[in-house]
Amino acid sequence: MTELICIVCPRGCHLQVDEANGYAVTGNSCPRGAEYGRQEISDPRRSVTSTVLIEGAMYRRLPVRTDRTVPKADMDKVMDAIKQVRLSAPVKRGDVIIENIAGTGANLIATKDM
Ligand code: SF4
Repeated sequence: MTELICIVCPRGCHLQVDEANGYAVTGNSCPRGAEYGRQEISDPRRSVTSTVLIEGAMYRRLPVRTDRTVPKADMDKVMDAIKQVRLSAPVKRGDVIIENIAGTGANLIATKDM
């Protein structure tokens, strides 16, 4: 049994996840908490936000994010790929900067016109 706090909404329910019982979740006040608890214990994932180097723009770094969550275990590979990026302006918000970053199935996209 693992205890964790649900971060899906500000209520912060205290969840218990029973790994030995098919990741059954108790303590949740709504179905979203059950889904969060199951996911967080069986396959934890995170969205990644960061910045990459860009030349010829007003600022030296462009804000980027993944367009979906990626496995927490792949976070180092994702950050390594982000560190390699060198862009030239112009870039449009929503442009794909890296497709299928680190083989996760997520795309890295720009979050600002620059
Ligand atoms: S279980 Fe539902 S109500 Fe409780 S914190 Fe999570 S999302 Fe909010």
